[in-house]
Amino acid sequence: MEVKETLTKEQKDFKTLLLRLPKTEIHLHLEGTASVETIWSLMKKNNLNHTDISNKEDLKKKFQITNLEEFIDLFINVIQSSFSTENDIEYLINDAGEYLKKSNTVYSEIFFAPSKFVSMGFDFGKMIKILEKGTSTIMDRHGIEVKYIIDVSRSFGFDNAMRNLDLVIANPSKSVIGIGLGGSETKGPARDFQKVFEKAISHGFHVVAHAGEDVGPESVWDALNLLKAERIGHGISSINDEKLMKHLEEKQIPLEICPTSNLFTRKYAKTLEEHPVRKFFDRNMNVTINTDDPTLFSVNLIEEYMTLYNKKIFTGSEIVKLIKNNIYATFLPDAKKDKIWKECESRL
Ligand SMILES: [Zn+2]
Repeated sequence: MEVKETLTKEQKDFKTLLLRLPKTEIHLHLEGTASVETIWSLMKKNNLNHTDISNKEDLKKKFQITNLEEFIDLFINVIQSSFSTENDIEYLINDAGEYLKKSNTVYSEIFFAPSKFVSMGFDFGKMIKILEKGTSTIMDRHGIEVKYIIDVSRSFGFDNAMRNLDLVIANPSKSVIGIGLGGSETKGPARDFQKVFEKAISHGFHVVAHAGEDVGPESVWDALNLLKAERIGHGISSINDEKLMKHLEEKQIPLEICPTSNLFTRKYAKTLEEHPVRKFFDRNMNVTINTDDPTLFSVNLIEEYMTLYNKKIFTGSEIVKLIKNNIYATFLPDAKKDKIWKECESRL
């Protein structure tokens, strides 16, 4: 999915502009920034054996996923399983910082999914302290601000999700600003998690949810009506529901679209040309572009924008609008959003 073809002068100029503009990213999973090198080092350091993986090449192959189930298997059974202590999470933070720097992303809200780690016996409070320290490291090294959204997960049922929320509440951190709902959309419908989200809102957390990625528009409606999600992760099945698109437009609910990821899932778009992102944009819906799990999908934010530009799905000025949408869809205070956008505008 990388932009491998030779770029024309115009495309090169646009890429230079893109790199110059300060950007934000709001749909990014911490583990999805893990490099093969990092996971391999962790597997060796922690003496981990995996039946399919005996060398780095095997691991590289495992990263070449073709569908959502393979992706979840890689995410949970390989990447998350390669960690043996809370401190190993620092490796991920280093990778995230390097990843964000590459695209000149100045602010990001990153998902952290604790379910697997908690089940492995990791101490939640320790993990939060490491994550929080990580934000200072990324700020000191790269000048990039990071906040976390804890993914309470659809995959392991209500009790697990509520326990995750209770742990978030019991371990308050200025770096954790909300909760999200990732994992298997087919296995865990939104209605199962309504009480978790109500409680999170009552504690002042922002709430977002993956929806309409692998299940139809009813999943997006549920995320909005039952969970009160402030932003929708993907939401691409909304294309099949006229009323829903109108609602999303009227309410200007940001859609965290991750084009490359959606093409991997292959559920609602098999090619970029048939991806609903352009139709959503034309209907004045609040579209933002993100990468989801960049190293797993071999993509970064610049490449996502460049592919949309090179394939003429969006013009340069429309991509600037998408960058602006992303800045204003963050949970930053308004003054900070304005500051990033002004800086962005001054570099156009
Ligand atoms: Zn995601």
